[in-house]
Amino acid sequence: MKHSPGNMMYVSRDENTTRELGKQRITPILKQIGADVADDLNSKDQTIMVKRVNGATLRLVGAQSASGFITWPASYGFVDEAETHPLLNEGSTIDLTRARFKADPDYKMIVFSKAQDEPVYETDKITKKQKIVSGQGTRCSDEYYSGTQEKLHVPCPHCQHYQELVWGQMKIEPDCITSAPGILPITYDYKKVLSGTYYECKSCKGKIQDKDKRKIVPLGKWVPTPKEEREGPYPEPFPFRQSIQISDLFVFLFPSSSWGNLMVKWLEAEGDDDKLGAFYNDFLGLPRPERKSAGKVELAKIDRLISDYPRLQCYDAGRRWQGAQVPLTFDPLFIGITIDKQDGYLKYVISAFMANGEPHILDYGVLANEDDITFLLQNFIVKSKSGDDYRIYCGLFDSGFRRSKVIEYCWEIRGLIPYFAPARGVQRVQSRASIWVTEDKSIPNAAVSIVNFDSQAWEDDLYRRRIIEFDPKKPKRRYPRIHLPVDVCDDFKSELSNAHQVEETVKGRQLGTWIWQKAKHHEPNDYGDCVKMALLLWVLHAPDDTPEEPPAED
Ligand SMILES: [Zn+2]
Repeated sequence: MKHSPGNMMYVSRDENTTRELGKQRITPILKQIGADVADDLNSKDQTIMVKRVNGATLRLVGAQSASGFITWPASYGFVDEAETHPLLNEGSTIDLTRARFKADPDYKMIVFSKAQDEPVYETDKITKKQKIVSGQGTRCSDEYYSGTQEKLHVPCPHCQHYQELVWGQMKIEPDCITSAPGILPITYDYKKVLSGTYYECKSCKGKIQDKDKRKIVPLGKWVPTPKEEREGPYPEPFPFRQSIQISDLFVFLFPSSSWGNLMVKWLEAEGDDDKLGAFYNDFLGLPRPERKSAGKVELAKIDRLISDYPRLQCYDAGRRWQGAQVPLTFDPLFIGITIDKQDGYLKYVISAFMANGEPHILDYGVLANEDDITFLLQNFIVKSKSGDDYRIYCGLFDSGFRRSKVIEYCWEIRGLIPYFAPARGVQRVQSRASIWVTEDKSIPNAAVSIVNFDSQAWEDDLYRRRIIEFDPKKPKRRYPRIHLPVDVCDDFKSELSNAHQVEETVKGRQLGTWIWQKAKHHEPNDYGDCVKMALLLWVLHAPDDTPEEPPAED
């Protein structure tokens, strides 16, 4: 900006980040280099911020909408935290930024991000070229693959051989292991691990110690990945596209990134896919390792569940209570609510059950706290098609998070509606039933019934039987169809679709058992949990004269 001024665009995750960044960081830096920075220009669009710098314009854009990327010529572009940006209908924020440089052949674009997930490619039917089909969280890695793929190579202090520091060469001294050889599980003396972690030189097998980093990292050279070792679908880098990747193994300024500390985190993450994924993202700067996935809940499958009735919208857009505004277009047997507790908020789903067991999702949303639930239970009332008033008859409150609080609340409001109980999903316990009730006596002089359920069995019921395998032409009595309102919003659908089935692994070894888990680790699936519990409500409250379940149809 100092030597070759030109219009500049800075894209960050959302509006707030953009505003903060402009005020707190960018303006002071520009002033430091002696740029002449004028106050923000008037801007009607709150998603962008505009500044004048040395006569050129700096636009700070939030990645949440394409409006900031309208036709506007730029010479410089910065895309920050690219993997956290949503994939917009108009394309990735990287593509949208690149489109702004048409007027300047000497443009410069810099994209930064921590990696998230491995991009997925498919062969185009016509051109036979590989094209990216994966969404948010994979586009920066794709850009990396399309560039020079440079890594920092540092010299071994013993043999001077230049090499990239890779996690596979990180070793621990034998006395860090406290378990007997060949006996599982392996146990460690973590204090010894902190000082007994070293790097084995690929060439001379010499031990490189953590303290050597200060000496060897400043001698590092950036080396492009040779053609035969390139990752991704692009055999050659695109012209003028330099891409680099670096991990915390090279960091010597912060003790938290010492090799011993990283090794302790690694050992802690072993066998835990979520932690292992986070280790790849946060410390190695690599996409989380891909896992074989079987069931995948696609949005198109969810769309098939949409019916013709409107959502109730008990709260307006400003989250003010307005109650049910219109009567139902059907006569249900009963109405139930299911609630998922998260850190700082609650999500609820209200479902109406037909006599044949088909749940109709009536409404859903976010509540601030338990008082909001009480209010909702007290005030919810809706007319059925025949004109009868329906209140909420039964409810389940997931106790997976802050269990004792949930149990306490359920006890406090007992009797407010005919049935309201805490629910507890149990992961991979060899249980004979998929749902069973136990008594909790953690509150003095009170016994609260808890509805336990086999999470995996019910996730399979929901995601496989009622979503993936749903066929409107072949209804299965055992798995009654779920109905969604005609105006169900994208948030609800994307949460409901955030699940896939993967093969369970322990210490990198596949076990042959398949489990359901979140497909996008960083995104919620609270509504999925609520719908899953709605299926339990039917099992608990279906009338006794329901005909015997026929044997499984598969
Ligand atoms: Zn060496």
